[in-house]
Amino acid sequence: MTAEGEPREELFRLVRSLKERLRVDGELGRPLTYLVREKAVAATNEGGESAQDLRESPVAKKSGLDGVREMLGDCRRCPLHRTRHSLVFGEGNPEADLVFVGEAPGADEDAQGRPFVGRAGQLLTKIIVAMGFKREEVYICNILKCRPPGNRNPQPEEIAPCEPFLIRQLEAIRPRVICALGTFAAHTLLKSEAPISVLRGRFHSYQGIPLMPTYHPAYLLRNPGAKKQVWEDVQMIMKTLGNGT
Ligand code: SF4
Repeated sequence: MTAEGEPREELFRLVRSLKERLRVDGELGRPLTYLVREKAVAATNEGGESAQDLRESPVAKKSGLDGVREMLGDCRRCPLHRTRHSLVFGEGNPEADLVFVGEAPGADEDAQGRPFVGRAGQLLTKIIVAMGFKREEVYICNILKCRPPGNRNPQPEEIAPCEPFLIRQLEAIRPRVICALGTFAAHTLLKSEAPISVLRGRFHSYQGIPLMPTYHPAYLLRNPGAKKQVWEDVQMIMKTLGNGT
């Protein structure tokens, strides 16, 4: 690519990302406060519907997790739909006190259509049980609902269209505590770029809900020494929820 082409490509990427954000926010009925011109609010999405049309659609008015899942549909809002086998929405108690948010499905999750079912998921289940919960008592989901090929890192243009659905899931569940597993979950939810090693170990606030960032279970499989810090983090969650210690 030429030096001249790079800014042009970046501009196209930003426009694509904004269009997608408009479309999804319209579907979810979220206020488009980041737009300043009335004309821009009425921008159409790729399907030719205006954001206003989508906001007023009957599906957008459905509440609860089922409504969010229905709005997501057979999502093709980012390129990950081309390589996924399953869309992994999330699972667990729709009225959970505690929600775990990870990064994205891996190979096992993509194959089964369920979050955190591989080796890292088995470790997460052990952590949940050690906290005094059954797995089905909490809710588990990811920032991205589809697997990035080769488990590469999520890209901004994938997070942008997918994040509004996570926001809506959290609005529907309204948990007492959120646990962000790993860098991408913490960065996306907290809009921070600080290292997870700096963010973990204390509560932050997400829409008024205490949010504890901690290491991702996949990181723990590679770095078992970090289990001590994760245990410290989850003990703070347990204390807040009145579970044990
Ligand atoms: S990752 Fe999210 S936005 Fe992309 S296709 Fe899957 S559900 Fe849609």
